[in-house]
Amino acid sequence: MKVSDIEFTSGLAQIVGAEDLEERVLLSTCTTFAVGGPARWFVSPKDEQTLIRVIDLCKKEEVPYFVLGYGSNLLVSDHGYKGVIIRLKKHFSDVVFSGQTVKAGGGASLKRLLNGALENGYVGLSFAAGIPGSVGGAIYMNCGAYEKDIASVLSSVRVYQPESHTVATITKEDMQFAYRRSILMDTHWIVLEATFTLEHSADAAALEAEKHQAEEYIQSRKKKQPLEYPSAGSTFKRPTGAYAGKLIMEAGLAGFSIGDAAVSSKHCGFIVNRGHASADDIYRLCKAVQKIVKEKTGFELEPEICFLGSFDQ
Ligand SMILES: Cc1cc2nc3c(=O)[nH]c(=O)nc-3n(C[C@H](O)[C@H](O)[C@H](O)COP(=O)(O)OP(=O)(O)OC[C@H]3O[C@@H](n4cnc5c(N)ncnc54)[C@H](O)[C@@H]3O)c2cc1C
Repeated sequence: MKVSDIEFTSGLAQIVGAEDLEERVLLSTCTTFAVGGPARWFVSPKDEQTLIRVIDLCKKEEVPYFVLGYGSNLLVSDHGYKGVIIRLKKHFSDVVFSGQTVKAGGGASLKRLLNGALENGYVGLSFAAGIPGSVGGAIYMNCGAYEKDIASVLSSVRVYQPESHTVATITKEDMQFAYRRSILMDTHWIVLEATFTLEHSADAAALEAEKHQAEEYIQSRKKKQPLEYPSAGSTFKRPTGAYAGKLIMEAGLAGFSIGDAAVSSKHCGFIVNRGHASADDIYRLCKAVQKIVKEKTGFELEPEICFLGSFDQ
């Protein structure tokens, strides 16, 4: 960092305003694993220009920044994050329905998007029922379930591209979507807004069926997933030709634990926080599971979850 801590804080406050700047926010309160140390700064920019100015300041003063969604696919280190966490949840969460298109801010929740779609007569999003992420995080991850993913209902994404200092609209075709992958993982562009193409149905029976489907997915998740514990959903990606949870079970790891982090016996694809796990417990458990599964089955498990901050190797 090129300036003092106090000077940087004052610069940030001038840009975002005191009401949208917090300091030393415990990230365990913003992640579904319920672990993670403090973020030195935590900002909620009120619009695109403010967001861009925050990033400009970070780049100028050589302070790292990270865009946080709803923390539902993220393991944050116990040491926290020594830079600026930028969260779009507060001011980028509008969802607007018009004709066949639906626009949602990068910080809107998938739940709000889905419920709004159902209320306004749109079908096609029921697969997302029960996925606890934001629109930005969903696009970054290309999240999905039940043979569908967010890419399948997306038309374009408005992003901020920090390297060229531009705001651009990227078509779905140029987002390089694949299984749990998007171009955002290589570029670190920031999702400001997404446009979805959903079918607008006047057919009451079709809408009722869509609502029913969404409810069924939620019930099925409750039955099959350990939702009673904090987690980040499936910890590992599905390897080609196999299922991570099944491999972990076959390796004899159901219930295997380090500290209070455990492989769920209900769904071995989930690592859960049984109450007082540290990020380090979860991290070491991930590594141990990968090692044992490799030894016993030959499959390499790749984490689906993202990591933020430093972890002891
Ligand atoms: C109980 C449970 C069930 C789950 N079920 C599923 C499931 O069925 N299918 C599935 O795919 N996932 C599932 N997940 C994982 C998770 O909900 C998704 O991956 C979700 O899309 C992550 O969104 P998020 O906003 O929480 O992202 P975060 O966890 O906050 O961030 C993930 C990544 O996205 C980036 N990001 C966030 N917002 C933006 C933005 N605006 N612009 C650019 N980058 C951004 C972050 O920088 C980070 O690298 C589940 C999680 C839980 C806890």
